[in-house]
Amino acid sequence: MTYIGRFAPSPTGHLHLGSLITALGSWLDARANHGQWLLRIEDVDLPRTQPGAASHIMATLEACALHWDGEVLVQSTRSARYAQACAQLTSLGLTYPCTCSRREIADTALGRSPDGAQVYPGTCRAGSAHQRAAHAVRIRTNSHPIEFLDRLQGLQTQCVEHAVGDFVLQRADGLTTYQLAVVVDDADQGVTDIVRGADLQDSTARQIYLQHCLGFSTPRYLHLPIAVNASGEKLSKQTRAAAVGPNDLPAAFAALAHPLPDALGHASAKEQLAWGLAHWNPARLPRGRTLAA
Ligand code: GLU
Ligand code: ZN
Repeated sequence: MTYIGRFAPSPTGHLHLGSLITALGSWLDARANHGQWLLRIEDVDLPRTQPGAASHIMATLEACALHWDGEVLVQSTRSARYAQACAQLTSLGLTYPCTCSRREIADTALGRSPDGAQVYPGTCRAGSAHQRAAHAVRIRTNSHPIEFLDRLQGLQTQCVEHAVGDFVLQRADGLTTYQLAVVVDDADQGVTDIVRGADLQDSTARQIYLQHCLGFSTPRYLHLPIAVNASGEKLSKQTRAAAVGPNDLPAAFAALAHPLPDALGHASAKEQLAWGLAHWNPARLPRGRTLAA
């Protein structure tokens, strides 16, 4: 079996326990399957990128002996490739310019999508509704339900048109969105297996829809529950989650329901990972969207 996995952090801050759990889970799954494990720095949203965060993340992964294969792919170097993919979708008649402001969308939205965004009602589908120069590019969605079998969370179904609406590929400021960039990158890197946080589970149908439109194959998916703090918030820079290092590997193993034996509690990261490889069993992973960390 060919297995190419990846870890794709956004360099918006340091690695925290939540991102370490995801990194460890995807690394173990890739290595236990004799697969490759690629690293991609997802800095496509440049305004949210923090200087130094990417190198800090890489140093932390190295210190935890979570070594990756090959060159690191950096999204901010790939805008020409993303523009080409967007143009391909346009040539298929699948995109349209949208001049709606945030406010106009909020006023007309058909409720909220599972990830909290406003469901776009398709205002500009038949032509821009307003005379404005700056415009986003949206993709036409349809009511055909997208199904995928998540290796941990089971069968997932979403009708993208109802759940999210026609979504943005390129923002009015010219930046490519995460949804398009991730699909193009996973395809270009030959990724066969995505192990990532369940906060992205509701994005998966959008990504599969884009894979279909662009003629890419669909990888296997496994969405790990994400670590939340005592108030139920996702660990992140916003919730002031602490930076982690090799001493946090035991907590990450425990969160994945693969607790290290006591004798290995103070072993080197390399020895802990070797134990993890020998004992990796995805059937033991906790199901659900969140876990208290
Ligand atoms: N860059 C995303 C994040 O840090 C992960 C994207 C993905 O794994 O598809 O949340
Ligand atoms: Zn619009």
